[in-house]
Amino acid sequence: MSDICIIGGGHAAGRLVNNLQKLNYNGNIDIFSEENFLPYERPSLSKDFLLDKKNINDFQIDIDLDKVNYYFNTKINKVDFQNKLIIDLNNKSYSYSKLIFANGSYPKRIFDEDIKGVHYLRNINDSINIKKNIQNSKNIILLGAGYISLEISSSIKKKYPKKEVTIIDISEKILVRNSNDDLRELILKHQRKNNVKFLLKSVIKSVQKNNDESIEFVALDDDKLLACDLLIVGIGVHPNNKIIEGTDLYDDNGIKVNEFCETSIKDVYALGDVALAKNVFLNKFVREESWNNAEKQSNILAQNLIGTKIAYEEIPWFWTDQFDQNFQILGEINNFDNKILRSYSDNKNTFLYIKNKKLIGAVAENNGRDISIIRKILKKNIEPNFEKIQNININLKELL
Ligand SMILES: Cc1cc2nc3c(=O)[nH]c(=O)nc-3n(C[C@H](O)[C@H](O)[C@H](O)COP(=O)(O)OP(=O)(O)OC[C@H]3O[C@@H](n4cnc5c(N)ncnc54)[C@H](O)[C@@H]3O)c2cc1C
Repeated sequence: MSDICIIGGGHAAGRLVNNLQKLNYNGNIDIFSEENFLPYERPSLSKDFLLDKKNINDFQIDIDLDKVNYYFNTKINKVDFQNKLIIDLNNKSYSYSKLIFANGSYPKRIFDEDIKGVHYLRNINDSINIKKNIQNSKNIILLGAGYISLEISSSIKKKYPKKEVTIIDISEKILVRNSNDDLRELILKHQRKNNVKFLLKSVIKSVQKNNDESIEFVALDDDKLLACDLLIVGIGVHPNNKIIEGTDLYDDNGIKVNEFCETSIKDVYALGDVALAKNVFLNKFVREESWNNAEKQSNILAQNLIGTKIAYEEIPWFWTDQFDQNFQILGEINNFDNKILRSYSDNKNTFLYIKNKKLIGAVAENNGRDISIIRKILKKNIEPNFEKIQNININLKELL
C-alpha cells in the first residue's frame, strides 16, 4: 500500500513529488502515468520545442526516482473510494492511504475517428508528430483561435514564413476565453503582421480525404472547400474526470476542491487542470488551465500533506509567447468599470483594470516587471493613486 498515490504524471504530479522530496517526506509514493515520460512542463510544446530550440531535458521536472514507485504507461480506469483502491486498464488494483488526482485535461475532439493529417496537441508525442508534419505540409489549418493555435501559428511562421497558415473559429473574436478586447487587439496585430490568416465566424463541417485516407480539404458550413494537408485542432480541453463518473465527486467541470486542494472525501485531493478549485482571490470555484496553477497548487498541497495547512491564495496568472512577444494576464480583466493604459512604446504596454476604485487585474505586453508589482498591489489590497499609475515615469513600486 502507498502512503501517497498520485494519478497522473504531468506538471502538477511532478512538482508535487519534487516539493514533497524537498520537504524530506519519506513515506511511500506511487505515481501512475499513462505517458512513457517522466513529468515535464508543457508550455514549450507549442513554442520552443516545436521550434527545436529546446529538448525535453530543458523542461523535465526533477524527482528522485529511488524514492518513488513510478508506473509508466499505466492508465487508471476506476477508483473505489470505499475500499481505497485504484484500478488500472488491466483490472489490476492498488491500495492507497491518500489519493491525489493530478490527471489534468484532454483536448476536445472535432471528429470521433482518427484521420491522417488531423492532430491535437497535449503531450510530447503530439508535439513531435506535429513538428514532423509541419515540415511537409503546404496548407496548414488551425481550428480554434485560442492560445494553443495562436502559439502554433507563431511557431510555424517563425520557422517557415512562406507556409500558408489559417486559423478558423466559430466565434467572431479570437480568444473567447480568458481574454479581453485589449489583449485580442495586441495579439492580432502580431499575428496579422506575420501573415497568419483568420476565418472567423466559420465552422468546419467535414473533411474530404485523399485516396490514402489523408486529409485533402476541409468543408466549411457555407460549403466552401479549403485545401488542407495538416489540420491542428485546438478547441479547448476537458478535465479528465471520466474515471470518477458515477461517484459523489463527479462534476462536469472537474473535481471540486477547497482552497486546501481537499475534495469532500477524506484523504482525497485534486490539483492542476483537473481541479475545480476554490479561488480565494476571485471568491469562486475556477478550473484554471495554467502553468502557474499546477506549479503553485503543488506547493500548497505538498505542505498540506505533511501537516502544515496552507490555503491557495494565488491570483490567476497566465502568459503566452507569440512572435517573440510576451503577453501576461493577471487577475480579473473583464468585469471592470475603468481602465488605465501605461504605454511605454509600440510593443510595450500595460493595461490596468479597476472596479470600485480598486485594481482588479492587468494585461501586459512585454512587461512582466509591471505584472510582478501589480501582483503585490493586488495581494496587499491597496487602493492605489490612479493619477500616479497613469504616469509611466512613475515606477509602480512607489504604489506599494
Ligand atoms: C501545448 C501547451 C502549451 C501550454 N502553454 C502554456 C503557457 O504558455 N502558459 C501557461 O500558463 N500554461 C500553458 N499550458 C497549460 C499548462 O501546461 C497546464 O495547465 C499544466 O500542464 C497542467 O498540469 P497538470 O499536471 O494538471 O496536467 P498535465 O500536465 O496535463 O498532466 C496530467 C497527466 O496525467 C496523465 N493522465 C491523465 N489521465 C490519466 C489516467 N487515468 N491514468 C494515468 N495517467 C493519466 C496525462 O497523460 C498527463 O501526463 C500549456 C499546455 C499545453 C498542452
